[in-house]
Amino acid sequence: MGKPDGFLLYDRELPAKEKVAERITNYKEFIRRPSEELLNHQAARCMDCGIPFCQNGCPLGNVIPEFNDAVYQKHWEKAYTILMSTNNFPEFTGRVCPAPCESACVLGINSRPVTIEEIEKNIAEIAFEKGFAKPQIPEFRTGKKVAVVGSGPAGMAAAYQLNQMGHEVTVFEKDPEIGGLLRFGIPDFKLDKKIIERRVRWMAEEGIEFRTSVNVGEDYSSDDLNRNFDAIVLAMGSTVPKDLRVYNREARGVYFAMDYLRQSNKRISGIPYTEEDILTHGKKVVVIGGGDTASDCIGTANRQGAKEIYQIYYKPEQPAERDETMPWPTVPMLLQVTSSHEEGCVRKWAVNSKGFETDKNGNLTGLKLVEVEWHRDPVTRQFVNYNEKPGSEFVIECDIAFIALGYKHVEHQGLVEQLDIHLDTKGNLMGDDVEFRTNQQKVFACGDARKGQSLVVWAIAEGRKCAEKVDEFLT
Ligand SMILES: Cc1cc2nc3c(=O)[nH]c(=O)nc-3n(C[C@H](O)[C@H](O)[C@H](O)COP(=O)(O)OP(=O)(O)OC[C@H]3O[C@@H](n4cnc5c(N)ncnc54)[C@H](O)[C@@H]3O)c2cc1C
Ligand code: SF4
Repeated sequence: MGKPDGFLLYDRELPAKEKVAERITNYKEFIRRPSEELLNHQAARCMDCGIPFCQNGCPLGNVIPEFNDAVYQKHWEKAYTILMSTNNFPEFTGRVCPAPCESACVLGINSRPVTIEEIEKNIAEIAFEKGFAKPQIPEFRTGKKVAVVGSGPAGMAAAYQLNQMGHEVTVFEKDPEIGGLLRFGIPDFKLDKKIIERRVRWMAEEGIEFRTSVNVGEDYSSDDLNRNFDAIVLAMGSTVPKDLRVYNREARGVYFAMDYLRQSNKRISGIPYTEEDILTHGKKVVVIGGGDTASDCIGTANRQGAKEIYQIYYKPEQPAERDETMPWPTVPMLLQVTSSHEEGCVRKWAVNSKGFETDKNGNLTGLKLVEVEWHRDPVTRQFVNYNEKPGSEFVIECDIAFIALGYKHVEHQGLVEQLDIHLDTKGNLMGDDVEFRTNQQKVFACGDARKGQSLVVWAIAEGRKCAEKVDEFLT
């Protein structure tokens, strides 16, 4: 432990962000680069607890007290080596992880947690800049061939690990670029695509073959997959969206959020698309849903110059600070204020969507909502059910609405059916979280396709563990 009284000397401090008026004029990342001194002071706040709850809170088991100490000692190369021992892509998680480690940090009992995520991001960036980060070419090859289907964080992590173990890895991706939802879901202002491209270039140098614009099951048959590879990893994501079953769902102007975000990501990267333009300039926008996808729609709509933006939540507003229902070290259900919220939108809580209002041509003119009253379980204090308040219906005028209610499961049509992979009751690929093996002998599954919609950090953790099991199977 570097500085025993660090947490008494320094308060939690994050680097400054670009001003809202400036940052919504473009799609660039807007968190300014912190000084090494600031990072050094923040790392000094780590108390090196006997039981590192932060480390247990991280799905990757990142060795947080050790890299904090290395940062405090200004041993950046050591910090990077420690970080990379558990996390293949700290430059991704350092930007988009909701940081369950910080919720678990012991300082959170009566103070504010260590800025673990920001430290992680900057360890990675400094390592790239100072040249500690280098491609690691494997020294031997096993002669075994592995196909990874899907290039999101789960597929990338599995491919990374398997290649380092000496196997010959081919990653198939149906999109024109590598990265999955990192590339075509999450916008550039949260994760600049150059950050993904930088890592993919290195992985290619390390020996991984990337084959883009190949939809396995359509452009490359499941028979070829079986014939040409010794093991197959399915990391295809959870992409079938949850829909809203209300009247006039088919109104012109109602879209799934991912159709909007995918197109926006393509437009910004100059990738051609054939669908009609979905643009919010000068429009009244409603975003239905409360997660990352909804938040990304708001940030994108503000950058496109939307006139008004509303976000619709069916749950009530959460408290800003922990209360008795969420004591440390539980992950607290706090009011989320994302960078997109800072940029401007009206948030409507505890309302349920009833249907879409249209003009006589079927164009969207409004969203009808009703207020709801939630009831808590007397023991767990969690919200369990609700009733609609009679006579509380109202309409928000809008020209465009995005449905951001999450995802049901992986796409079943095509490869999953062709390989005859069994599904669990939710429609995810069957494959337990110890073996990651499906019902087919040499086919493994990981990431959102197996676990259901989740987080980048979980996808990386899944890809790593799955790779271990594939390696055991092959060797
Ligand atoms: C808009 C949005 C914002 C998000 N923001 C965050 C965030 O801020 N923080 C966070 O932690 N998580 C976030 N998430 C969740 C996170 O992105 C996912 O949990 C994560 O990307 C899942 O990784 P994955 O590798 O399992 O799947 P994916 O990232 O979905 O990748 C699966 C890939 O498989 C490819 N594929 C599928 N079928 C085939 C086939 N037959 N042949 C070839 N390729 C195929 C797909 O094209 C895709 O590229 C967000 C999700 C969305 C939708
Ligand atoms: S990956 Fe996420 S949970 Fe793990 S240390 Fe980094 S920010 Fe925390």
